[in-house]
Amino acid sequence: MSRNLKENYYNVKNKIEEAEKASKYKKDVTLIAVSKTKPVSDIQEVYDLGQRDFGENKVQELLQKYDELPKDIRWHLIGHLQTNKVKQVIGKTYLIHSVDSLHLASVISAEAVKKNITVDILVQVNISEDENKYGVSNEDVIQLIKDISILPNINIKGLMTIGKNTENRHEIQQYFADLFKLSIDIKALNIDNVCMNFLSMGMSSDYDLAILEGSNMIRIGTGIFGDRNYL
Ligand SMILES: *Cc1c(COP(=O)(O)O)cnc(C)c1O
Repeated sequence: MSRNLKENYYNVKNKIEEAEKASKYKKDVTLIAVSKTKPVSDIQEVYDLGQRDFGENKVQELLQKYDELPKDIRWHLIGHLQTNKVKQVIGKTYLIHSVDSLHLASVISAEAVKKNITVDILVQVNISEDENKYGVSNEDVIQLIKDISILPNINIKGLMTIGKNTENRHEIQQYFADLFKLSIDIKALNIDNVCMNFLSMGMSSDYDLAILEGSNMIRIGTGIFGDRNYL
């Protein structure tokens, strides 16, 4: 992957536009630039191209970048959130994508009450029932949403999933279609404090398929910033 962030960024933007046109759902897709492991200088470069939504998967890294970068960035926490980190991060996120238990939601709610703010979240669903993934199971998702919906100062804005890790593109697409259908079913329940405005699905390798199946929020790391080096 090239180090030319500008070229990468516009390539992704063009591919999103093509997928939006090809999709029967005709959604406006929000691009989240996933900057985990990348330096603030890279983020600033993409910010200067007009990008405002950035995603991080670790609380510590998000907080550090939050302090150093412009305050109009919308920070998305996309990785697993431990309850002992909730206190530090809430109030700094635009959206938390990874809520998958009532316990975590209760801790977020309690901290939000203390700070007198409202926290917007997505419920992460393990739609492909992959045992290595976080996310609530398909079986439990509706009950979890009902339980979270009665907690104060926390609003469910939609669903998130991570595409199945397989070479089979058709299978990946099928699971995205399943999550879309699930979001429609949940919307039809008209639960108080629950809306299904956001469907966060699609990453560098599969966002075209996700948009075809109704995603309106995609999380792109490698496709913009290039490969990540984990130490
Ligand atoms: C890292 C990450 C992404 C971005 O992955 P790429 O394949 O680099 O686009 C998206 N979503 C989550 C939850 C991630 O952790």
